[in-house]
Amino acid sequence: MNFRTCKECGKELLADDIAIHRKLIDRNAGEFFCMDCLAGKLCVTRDKIEALIEYYRKSGNCTLFV
Ligand SMILES: [Zn+2]
Repeated sequence: MNFRTCKECGKELLADDIAIHRKLIDRNAGEFFCMDCLAGKLCVTRDKIEALIEYYRKSGNCTLFV
């Protein structure tokens, strides 16, 4: 369970990829997209996703980002 790949492109996922997918798509997701594919799905840039991750981490009140 500690190694997951993007369901779109097969890239290895980092904890942040999984956390932001859970935050933005589905809290209980069992399959995940990498940041690039997630950005594509949401029609935003990867920068936007990274900024969101940073925001949630700094806010400190989201249990998905530690
Ligand atoms: Zn991907």
